Amino acid sequence: MYAENILEHYKHPHNHGTLEKRSIDYRENNPLCGDVITIYLLIENEKVKDIRFVGQGCAISQAATSLLTDEIKGKSIEEIKKLDKDFVLDLLGVEISPARMKCALLGIKTLKLAIYDYLLKQDKKANEKDFEVEDA
Ligand SMILES: [Zn+2]
Repeated sequence: MYAENILEHYKHPHNHGTLEKRSIDYRENNPLCGDVITIYLLIENEKVKDIRFVGQGCAISQAATSLLTDEIKGKSIEEIKKLDKDFVLDLLGVEISPARMKCALLGIKTLKLAIYDYLLKQDKKANEKDFEVEDA
């Protein structure tokens, strides 16, 4: 049903766990499927120095987040702001049906909302629109 690398990431997720020393953690869920993701970020000099996640749910949601976290370490807030749906779909490399789109995008939504929440807590200016992920 799924490509080999998706099952592999689902069974052995990368960057799995929590960060004791962290700048922000953020939890988001996809009620349509029951997927839950919590992302932990350590941010230094406007860059992601470290990232971990924990979650539960379907293979697509967990594998997409695992694949995403591999790409995020070292990226700046500005770079992450620009990541979109296509970035995640390219990482997954398989056709995602409209019904599973919210599963595939839960990780990137959680990541971008975590960054948004971080900026607000730093009293930095942030526009929520810049951190939304189009899923249609
Ligand atoms: Zn799901």
